[in-house]
Amino acid sequence: MMARYIGPDCRLCRREGCKLFLKGERCLSAKCAMEKRPVVPGQHGLARKKEKEYGTQLREKQKVKRAYGLQEKQFRELYEKAANTKGRTGDNLLSYLERRLDNVVYRMGIADSRSEARQLVTHGHITVNGKDVNIPSYLVDKGDVIAIKETKKDLEIFKVLKDQKMSLPKWLEFSGAKLTGKVLELPTREDIDLNIQENLIIELYSK
Ligand code: SF4
Repeated sequence: MMARYIGPDCRLCRREGCKLFLKGERCLSAKCAMEKRPVVPGQHGLARKKEKEYGTQLREKQKVKRAYGLQEKQFRELYEKAANTKGRTGDNLLSYLERRLDNVVYRMGIADSRSEARQLVTHGHITVNGKDVNIPSYLVDKGDVIAIKETKKDLEIFKVLKDQKMSLPKWLEFSGAKLTGKVLELPTREDIDLNIQENLIIELYSK
């Protein structure tokens, strides 16, 4: 199995030619590498525009895979699941990605980035419907209650959430005072703010 990519996150954004929001607050600041120099790394960066169909599809897949921090095998499995679910495969795939517990923890504002969210989950800080869940790929459902574990609520890292004003996607709610949130609806295509052309990913995998 390929190891998770651990090199500089900003380089991934430069390669994909768009902001993947991998570094929390830095991504929203002028320090973001994409704000400074939005070109693909390597001397032939601009020539990439001429990439053929396959290259474009591959890049789109890599972009989404990296944004959500998945390895190829996990991403492929989610694609297969999406293809076997009723409805449009592309919509299903994005919905499954959004429903991952690590993503939900990030979207609720509990963590600054998906990788930080993944750590909180694997280190046993999060409960779903009152039960410990330490699996980042766990898919949440409508009505699920996501919370910081009772015994961890006093940790320093969660204190800032108490008076933080968060802008949440409309399918989620989160109370900083209670350190508890809820999945109000399942996410739909419109709820995903990354600029994704999922049709390219479907074309790539359905060859
Ligand atoms: Fe780096 Fe975030 Fe900007 Fe990407 S979006 S280049 S991770 S600061």
